[in-house]
Amino acid sequence: NFFQPAVFYTTVNHLRDLPIESAAEIAFAGRSNAGKSSAINTLANRTRLAFVSKTPGRTQHINYFSLGGQRYLVDLPGYGYAKVPGAVKDHWRELLGEYLAERAQLCGLILIMDSRHPLTELDLNMLQWFLPTGKPVHCLLTKADKLNRSDSIAVLRQVTQALAQMAPNYTVQLFSSLKKTGTEEVEKVAARWFED
Ligand code: GDP
Repeated sequence: NFFQPAVFYTTVNHLRDLPIESAAEIAFAGRSNAGKSSAINTLANRTRLAFVSKTPGRTQHINYFSLGGQRYLVDLPGYGYAKVPGAVKDHWRELLGEYLAERAQLCGLILIMDSRHPLTELDLNMLQWFLPTGKPVHCLLTKADKLNRSDSIAVLRQVTQALAQMAPNYTVQLFSSLKKTGTEEVEKVAARWFED
């Protein structure tokens, strides 16, 4: 398992504090409450690596987890949480935007979306925003355990088509932290990104 060695490394609040020792990193982004922390914990096979919050929008900084060999998993602040003061939102937007646009070590973005509400306006903004980098995005449709078989097939098809129209290197899969399904597919994507 590619993510299993993950150990907490550092928290970053300003771009100037991004670790220079990083050789390659994969970032996780998504709306608050989409299931990002749960997905990271599931992939790392840990219960409390990333903090699964009862208060959405809590994580306001960038968390780095070391995977060994100067490779890192990067947990980005969740977006779309309404009850956050404007100044804090501006700070995130700047931090997130500049990180995604300019971080040379970033190999690819894992975008977490609730399989029942995929491709919200903010998710689409995120995908469009990342497009100029030319870097790949792999979307996880989480909480797939909440969908029946035909609904999960339908949502997968719908998102696959939408992403294909945006960029050839935007991909998607179903995922469930509860059932621990879809982990191998993500690991394969991560391994490929780190190799490139
Ligand atoms: P984050 O804000 O994106 O980090 O989301 P969390 O990981 O904190 O999850 C938000 C809520 O969704 C929590 O109550 C989780 O227990 C729940 N959740 C996350 N992943 C899954 C999943 O795969 N299946 C189900 N049924 N619930 C999930």
